[in-house]
Amino acid sequence: MPALPRARLLVAATAAAVGLGLATPAHAAPETIVREEARTAEVVAEAMALAEQLAERQQTLAVLNRRADARDRALIGYRAVLSRYGYDGDPDTARAVLPLASYDLSAGFGLTGPLWEAEHGGQDFSAYAGEPLVAVADGVVTEVADAGPYGLRTILTLSDGTEVWYCHQTDATVVVGQEVAIADVIGSVGSTGNSTGPHLHLEVRPAAGDPVDPMDWMRAQGLDP
Ligand SMILES: [Zn+2]
Repeated sequence: MPALPRARLLVAATAAAVGLGLATPAHAAPETIVREEARTAEVVAEAMALAEQLAERQQTLAVLNRRADARDRALIGYRAVLSRYGYDGDPDTARAVLPLASYDLSAGFGLTGPLWEAEHGGQDFSAYAGEPLVAVADGVVTEVADAGPYGLRTILTLSDGTEVWYCHQTDATVVVGQEVAIADVIGSVGSTGNSTGPHLHLEVRPAAGDPVDPMDWMRAQGLDP
């Protein structure tokens, strides 16, 4: 399972220390600077240790969630599993499901603002860290990688060539080249990359081109996100 590099944690911890006002002011006396730099280094080390602990706990939580999910699926049956992800029809004709079972819709497609370098290219689903993510349709996994601002990203390519991006994951349970079926678990919600809290950033890119509004895409599949 891919993990984020330690350098990323250090950057996050340093940014946190600076944000807390622990950065040394440029006009301070030399002895103050030395003392404050030592204190800053201490705080950064503490923040790093906490960030690592949090990352480990989120990994553990994701694994436990998946175990519970697998047991649950065996009990409730396939039709109920699809229903949990927003599809209530005949399992044999299911085309698509929602990417996760429990969420609040947050930032929508096409927004602009300080959080994004360009237009927001996807739909955000605010959810608990460790919440299982599932394949929205049958497809093949074409990427599982640390994608910078997108965090740990899995790309699923559907049979019609549409790419579905799952970003900011805690972990991934699939590998490149793997075929997945609708509603198969592919990983879990996290907050890796440029993210202010656990959520799924979902992108839908027809023919692997520019992104479209995932809400429109899901509704076109008969879903009600
Ligand atoms: Zn987003």
